[in-house]
Amino acid sequence: MEMFMGFLKKVFDSFTRFRNKIFLAVCLVIHLIYLGVFEFLGIYPLAFLNLLSSVFYFYFLFIKKDTSERSMAATYFEILIFSFLSELALGTGYGFFLYMIGLSSAVFYLVPSYGSVRFIYQLVGIGAAFLLKCLLMIAKISFPDIQEAALPYQTIFYMVNLGITATIVLASTFFYSKEMEEAWETLRYNMNHDALTGLYNRRFFERQIEKVPLSEREQYVISMVDIDFFKVVNDTYGHEAGDEVLVMVASCLKDAAGQENLAVRWGGEEFILYFPRTTPNKVYPVMDELRRRIEGTTVKTAGKEIRITITGGIATGMADSNYEKVIRSADEKLYLGKKGGRNQIVM
Ligand code: GH3
Ligand code: MG
Ligand code: MG
Repeated sequence: MEMFMGFLKKVFDSFTRFRNKIFLAVCLVIHLIYLGVFEFLGIYPLAFLNLLSSVFYFYFLFIKKDTSERSMAATYFEILIFSFLSELALGTGYGFFLYMIGLSSAVFYLVPSYGSVRFIYQLVGIGAAFLLKCLLMIAKISFPDIQEAALPYQTIFYMVNLGITATIVLASTFFYSKEMEEAWETLRYNMNHDALTGLYNRRFFERQIEKVPLSEREQYVISMVDIDFFKVVNDTYGHEAGDEVLVMVASCLKDAAGQENLAVRWGGEEFILYFPRTTPNKVYPVMDELRRRIEGTTVKTAGKEIRITITGGIATGMADSNYEKVIRSADEKLYLGKKGGRNQIVM
C-alpha cells in the first residue's frame, strides 16, 4: 500500500512538473488527429484550421520551447478560436462548443499566477460562446457542404469532444486542488518554522502555549540558550559559517528536545527549549548533556574548524504563571551564566 502511494506521489509530482508540456503535447496530438480526420472527410477548411493549430503547438513545444504560463494563456485563446470556428462551420451537435465552456473553468489551472485576469479570460470565453450561439441560432449561419460531409460521424465527433472536455475539466480540477493543498502545507510550515534551522519559530511557540488554558498548564520548564561569543564567529569566519554553526546547534537542540518537548529558535542566536510536565531537576542533566555535546562538536566549513559553546538558563513555570515571566526568569539565569564565565547551565 505504501509503495503504491509512493508510486502515485511520483506520478503526481512528475505530472505537476511537466503539466504544461503535457498539455501542449496533448493539444498537438488532438489537432494532428483532427487534421487527418478532416483531410480524410475532404473538409479542407477545417483540415487547414487544424494544420494552423498544429503549427502553433509545434512552435511552442519544439521551436520556442516555451511552456510558461504566457504560452498557456496563448493556448487558451487558441482553443477558444479553434472551437468557435469549428462549431460555426459544422453547426450544433458536434461538441466543439463544449471546449469553450470546459476551458473557462480549466483556465484557473492553466495560468494560476494570473489572479483575477483569469476572470476576464473566462468572460471572453463565455462571451464568445454566446456570440457563437447567436450566429448559429439567430443569424442561422450555416455551411451545408461541410455539414453534409461530416453528418454521418456527428455522434462520434460529439462523444470524442465530450470525452476530451470532461477529461480536461476533471484533471485540471483534481490537480488544481492538489497543488493548492500542497501550497497551503508549505505555507503552514513556513509560518511555524524558522527557515534556516527548521526549528519552530517564536510565533508558533507563543500560539502553542497560549492555546493551553492556564488551569491546564501543569508545572513546566523553560530553558533559554544563547551561543557564546557568536559575534566573533561571524566576524572571524563570515556570516555563512555562522549560519552553519546555528544549524549545528539547532540540530543538537532538536535531539535534546525529542518528541515530547519543543525546540524553538527564539531570535538570532537565542533558543528556547520547552519541557511540559516536568521539574528543573530532571531538565538540568538534559541541558548539561546538550551543553557538553555542543562543546565537543566541530563545525567544518571552507577548510576551517569552528567550535563554540553555549550558556543556558532554566526557569520553572506553574499552572498559573505567566509564561513571559518564566522566559524572563530563564533569561536572567542565562545572564548569570554569561557573567559567571559562559559554557554553563544555570538553574
Ligand atoms: P555573548 O556570549 O555575550 O552572547 O556574545 P555574542 O557575541 O554571542 O552576543 P551578541 O548578541 O553580541 O551577538 C549575537 C550575534 O548573532 C550578532 C548577530 O549578527 C548574530 N546573528 C543573529 N542572527 C544570525 C543569523 O541568522 N546568522 C548569523 N550568521 N548570525 C546571526
Ligand atoms: Mg544573544
Ligand atoms: Mg550570544
